[in-house]
Parts: sequence; structure tokens; C-alpha cells
Amino acid sequence: MTTLKVAVPQEKYHQELISCQMACPVHTDARGYVRAIAEGRFEEAYLIARGPNPFASICGRICGAPCEVACRRGQIPRLDDDGNFVAWDRPVSIRALKRFACEQAGIDTNPTDTVLENIRSYVPQIAGNIEEMSAFLQASIAGKLIKANQEKIAIIGAGPAGLSAAHDLALMGFSPTVFEIEPVAAGMLAVGVPAYRLPRELIAREVALIQALGVEIRCNTTVGKDISFADLRRDFAAVLIAVGAKSSRGLSLPGEAGPRVYGGVDLLRAVSLGESLDLGQDVIVIGGGNVAYDVARTVLRQIAYDTARTAKRLMTVSQVWLVSLESLEEMPADTVEILEGDEEGIIRMNGWGPLEIKRGNNGEVKGVTFKRCLQVYDENKRFAPIFDEKIQQTISCDTVLLAVGQYPNLSFLKDGGKDVAENRPGWPKADPETLATTAPGVFVAGDLAHGTRLLIEAVASGKKAARSIYQYVTGRSLTVESTTAHIVQERYRREAGYETIRRAEIPVIEAEERLKHPETVVETGYNRQQAMCEASRCLDCGVTPVFDGNRCVLCGGCADVCPTQCLKLVSLSQLDLSPDLQSAINESLGNDSNLDENTAILKDEDRCIRCALCAMRCPADAITMERVTFSNLWRSQ
Ligand SMILES: Cc1cc2nc3c(=O)[nH]c(=O)nc-3n(C[C@H](O)[C@H](O)[C@H](O)COP(=O)(O)OP(=O)(O)OC[C@H]3O[C@@H](n4cnc5c(N)ncnc54)[C@H](O)[C@@H]3O)c2cc1C
Repeated sequence: MTTLKVAVPQEKYHQELISCQMACPVHTDARGYVRAIAEGRFEEAYLIARGPNPFASICGRICGAPCEVACRRGQIPRLDDDGNFVAWDRPVSIRALKRFACEQAGIDTNPTDTVLENIRSYVPQIAGNIEEMSAFLQASIAGKLIKANQEKIAIIGAGPAGLSAAHDLALMGFSPTVFEIEPVAAGMLAVGVPAYRLPRELIAREVALIQALGVEIRCNTTVGKDISFADLRRDFAAVLIAVGAKSSRGLSLPGEAGPRVYGGVDLLRAVSLGESLDLGQDVIVIGGGNVAYDVARTVLRQIAYDTARTAKRLMTVSQVWLVSLESLEEMPADTVEILEGDEEGIIRMNGWGPLEIKRGNNGEVKGVTFKRCLQVYDENKRFAPIFDEKIQQTISCDTVLLAVGQYPNLSFLKDGGKDVAENRPGWPKADPETLATTAPGVFVAGDLAHGTRLLIEAVASGKKAARSIYQYVTGRSLTVESTTAHIVQERYRREAGYETIRRAEIPVIEAEERLKHPETVVETGYNRQQAMCEASRCLDCGVTPVFDGNRCVLCGGCADVCPTQCLKLVSLSQLDLSPDLQSAINESLGNDSNLDENTAILKDEDRCIRCALCAMRCPADAITMERVTFSNLWRSQ
């Protein structure tokens, strides 16, 4: 007889079930705000989202949303009437719901003072959130976090990492000053991400809220030119380097050096700041990731906009190519970028690697020669392209944009930072736990610390650095006090038919409309009714049926009524007795229990949709729906 392999829930079992929260680098309680939206509690939804994340409103627009990748709804099979597999369901549209919550009650539409007051007075109703904003405030109110003494902390770079660190440091009682080269704060969000995805006004509002907490931002100030790194180390109690990776990588191709070949992020920066850049009409963008799409779609808008404004250029002679090594299936860009890029008229070429940039007699760009790429990754998923050099083609163009990665510029370390060691050329070495570099009092965060990743990872890393700086400067250790509570849900009911509702596509404007003005925002977002309906798809993984073995009469009604067939009654002798299962059996039945005479109820967590039908059906009241919540409070010692 084959035995069934089962797992006995371990300590972190309930936390891990809330996969959206676990997947978020700052552990936002996505389930919490999505359920709040479903129930019409929009202000609370915003406060839950804003709690651990100073960039909640911006994340609502552009977050890479690891929560959605982890959402259990996307792992539920859709079955036909005969119980046959049709397709996997799709995750809850968490990011767009966050945007909705922020538009209802966040800085998107409300004055800074009002929002700040709401945040300050917010005490989570359900302690289900690892809410550091509230937690820091509550901890200091409760006397558990001894505030710093307004010591001055220097932060280089006003990107999401630097500003998130500054935000938390201000809450902890420090005096953070952020130095920023650009005339605007927010790093790549302001000078990289195009305005058609992220309105500039929204960035300004998000930054204003951070400033209102006591963060000073000095724009137009380059560390290494206007102020030296040595000065910062002398005048500040600690220094955080959060300068990102702003320099475009080149490919060292023949013909690359010279006019009209630019780095993709340099183009985005110029457009964001309204600086002029000499662009032609036939543009090739090299790269296959999201940045390449931002570049290509931005150029398309520049050309279309100029056409509309000056009527000097015709759409038919203006084209933007996007050429990637990867096949369509392998491209790292998000599917939505590829689809919207196709809709807008980007000419996509997959499976080609650049060989040479052709220039004319006067040095003008004439085209790019590509060779066929047969394979990009090896069997270990490592980047190891293989080409067929014999298959080549040249595409005519007058401008080339390279979107093949970025690297940092740490030249300011020359003066006062020689003790910051590198772990690979150009990248600093840092302890992954503390983000401390090899130089005393110098920390790193964001893209500089972990390589180019998502905005929310930069936020998480800035917050981590803030905690390390607190410990370094005050000499006190900082620990988290966690409490778990199980709250019985007496009248737990779900929205009728929630299990069959399909994911609502995020509304966008038509491709033609998008191109009329470079800053027209593509996504229009959900309205109230769409948001509440989409939010009701959430499986509410924080709630779970709990079975009381002493009451159960083994009638099997729970398994019969379960719509996803996730419950099963089996004899204990059918189970594969792993050591932890054996000790669980011993604990509940004693060491000499007869396995054949005892029954277990097995639950397939991947399938459970928290409908509560099992609890309603149980004639012995042996099943209760329980909400498991966690709260984390910082304590300094
Ligand atoms: C084009 C583009 C689009 C992106 N889109 C998304 C997206 O849609 N979703 C997502 O999740 N992530 C996205 N990302 C990634 C995200 O923007 C980054 O991961 C994030 O901005 C990194 O934050 P950071 O604070 O580490 O660095 P940055 O945002 O790069 O900020 C660093 C700051 O330091 C400043 N600085 C540098 N040197 C100095 C100096 N010497 N003195 C003073 N200041 C200095 C820079 O000017 C900059 O403002 C995108 C990135 C790019 C490039």
C-alpha cells in the first residue's frame, strides 16, 4: 500500500500561508488591504498599505508586485462541470487595488497634513500587519523604542532606498539629510520611469509626505563635487550611500562611440527633466527588459508628439525598433509591456545580437548589423548566448539606444572612502544582514547594495539600513517583539460567487490616445465597483478552518461539501509517518495508539479557498474559522 506524504504545520505555518505578505520585501499585509477594499473600508486599506511602505502610492502605479506572483488565487485550478482541469485561475490584481486605496485616502488626492494625521493616529484594528510606520510610532509611545537624540545622518541619493531610510530614521528620532545630484528627488522613479506610467505630481506628493516627517533633502548637490565624502564622514554620525546604478552599460561594439548612440537611462533622464537630446527618426533600442520598453515607448511618444506639434515629421517615416537577444518567450520584460509596446507600434525583433554600429563618412549612424542568436541561457539558466555568425542582417537607423544594464558611480569615494572595499569592480562590499560596509559608520542600500532590482526591494533595503544605523549610532540593539493571535470568526461569510469571478483587467486608454501626449497616463485604474469586485476575489489566506478532533463525529460532511475537494478523511495507517507526524500523533493520542482505528482529516492548503462551507456543514460544531494575526513591535535595549 502506498502511503500519503503529509506535513504537520510548523510554527511559521500560518504566516507562510499569507503568501502575498511573505513575498513582499517589506511584508505589506496585502491581504489586509485587499479585504478592506472588498468591505468598503478604503481609508483603512490605505493605512495598511502605507504602514510599512513610504512609497505606497507610487507602488500602486508601478510596483513589480511580487505579491501577485505569490498570490494563491493564481494557483487554484478552474474545473469544468465534470471536475476536469480547464486552466489556472489568475492572481488578484493587488497592485491596481493598492492604487485604488491610495486614490481614495492617500496623498494621491488628499492634503499631506490630513494623510499624516491619519497615519499618526492609526492603530491597526487587526494586528495582522508588520506595520513598521505604526509600529515605530507605537513602540516609541509605549516606551519600547528609545528615540535617538537627533544625531545627524547623511544619506547620499534621494532614490527610494535613500528616502525610505531617511523616513524611518526620522521616525526613530534622527536628523537625516539627503544629498541628491538631480534637481528632483525620488531617483529612478523621477528620472527613469516615464511619466506615462508614473505622474510627476504623484511623486512630488509622496516625497512631500516624507519631508513632512522631518527629512531634509538637498537637491542639486553632488557628493564628490559640491561636498566631499570625507566632509560627510566628519560631520555626520553615520553615512548611508544609496546612489543606485545610474550609468548605462555599453557593449563596446565597433562604431558605438560617437554621436546619436546613447544609454537608455540617459535618454529617459533627459526626457524626464525636459533636456534636449539629439534624436533621429529611425531609432533602434537594444535590450529586452522593462527598461528597454520604457526607452522604446518614450521615444515613440517623442516622435509622435513632435509630429503632432510641428507637423514636420510623418508617422510613416518615424519608427522605433526594439531588438532583443531573447526569443519572445524568454524576454525579461513584463508581458503587459510587450503587449502595449506592440499595440503602440514598436517593431519588435527577437533573437538577434548586435555586431556593429555602422557609421557614414561623416560619422552619422547608418544602421546596426545583427547576428542570429540561437540560445541565450545555458541549461543552468546562466547567461551564455550562442550565435550563428553566418546569419546576419543590417537594419537602417539614425539613432541607437542601449538598454542592457546599469552600474554605479562611486568616484566620490576617492576623497575619504578608500576604506570602503569592493566585492566586484565598482560595487561595494557589504554585510548582507546589516548593510554595513568595511568602513566604520558607512552603510549602503538599494540597487547599489543588491544590484538592479525592483523599487520595493530598494525600499526594504533602505529600511534595513536605517535599523542598522540606529544600532550603530545609539549602541542599542533593536529587536522585534512578535505576537500571534488566533481570533475565532463567529459569522465568517464570503461574497456570493467570489470563487468564480474572473480577474478584472486594469482599464487602460487606447493606443492612439496614449501617443497624443508623452505624459498621458496609460492605466486609468479601477473605479469603486470594479475595485470592490476584484478585491472580493481574495482568498483571505489569513483565515483558515480549524478542526477540533474531540468534537468531530467523522461524518465526512466537510469533505463532501468542499467545492475544491481539498479535504479528505483517511486512516492514520495510510500516512507516511515522518518523525514530526509521529510525534504529533503521540502527543494527541498517546504512544500506543492503534493507527488503524484512528482517522485524520487532511487538508490540501493549495486548494482551500476559505469558503467556510465545511464549518457551516459540520453537525458537531467541530470546525471554526479562525483568523490568525501577527503583530511586530520594535524594542530597543
Ligand atoms: C527606467 C527604469 C524603470 C524602472 N521601472 C520600475 C518599475 O516599474 N517597477 C519597479 O518596481 N522598479 C522599477 N525600476 C527599478 C527601480 O526604479 C530601482 O530599483 C530603484 O529606483 C532603486 O532605488 P535606489 O534608491 O537604490 O537608486 P536610484 O533610484 O537610482 O536613486 C539613487 C539616487 O542617487 C543619486 N546620486 C547618485 N550619485 C550621487 C552623488 N554622487 N551625490 C548625490 N546623489 C547621487 C541619483 O541621482 C539618484 O537620484 C526601474 C528602473 C529603471 C532604471
